[in-house]
Amino acid sequence: MTTQNRLRIAMQKKGRLSQECSELLKQCGVKIIWNDQRLIAYSENMPIEILRVRDDDIPGLVFDGVVDLGIIGENVLEEVELGRLSAGENVAYKKLRQLDFGGCRLSLAIDRDKNYNNIKDLEDAVIATSYPNLLKRYMKEQNVPFKSILLTGSVEVAPSAGIANAICDLVSSGATLEANGLKEVEVIYRSTACLIQRQEPLSAEKQALVDKLLTRIQGVQQANE
Ligand code: ATP
Ligand code: ZN
Repeated sequence: MTTQNRLRIAMQKKGRLSQECSELLKQCGVKIIWNDQRLIAYSENMPIEILRVRDDDIPGLVFDGVVDLGIIGENVLEEVELGRLSAGENVAYKKLRQLDFGGCRLSLAIDRDKNYNNIKDLEDAVIATSYPNLLKRYMKEQNVPFKSILLTGSVEVAPSAGIANAICDLVSSGATLEANGLKEVEVIYRSTACLIQRQEPLSAEKQALVDKLLTRIQGVQQANE
């Protein structure tokens, strides 16, 4: 079968979403022959191929129609979307379903010994984050001026290193914040993983396969409830 006839799905290669993505495919009856060295993995029982990439690349691959489906955290999806929109670039996709894994929140956190009453306390603060666009949108809504510093990793050490007054980072249990002497003061975004499809119509065969997968995902998620 040629590549064109296979439904191409992008998922995170290595990270917090990868295991649950492959588990979901398995529960939907999609058998994949995994090979850690390869960018693309193929299904042995359905016309499906899996593109395994960094999560940050997934929204763009879907917006540009390079893949048909993507599984991605809403936080990354919206961050990339806002970035593209502000650069005047193309954003086009359909959200097919919110998934029941990858739950986390994007929060503002400060030194645990500092007083905090409300968001106005962060006026003119320097805030380190990997999510500058989601942060900017929130602070604009709150009408609080600030300065952001982009860090793609180790965001939580920025306050103790003296390079920021606060951070805006993903939190699930709060243990990482605690370990770095920080306290969560505002939740700015709540996220789970979701399944998205490219905007451009698919062939009838591919769309039928997507519909079948969706029905199965619904079944799997109901069983998990
Ligand atoms: P990549 O190498 O693919 O860029 P990454 O380091 O950016 O990986 P991960 O830490 O693997 O990303 O997180 C992937 C996604 O998992 C997050 O964007 C978010 O949607 C979700 N997630 C769930 N819980 C957490 C958490 N506690 N911390 C970070 N991400 C979480
Ligand atoms: Zn990433």
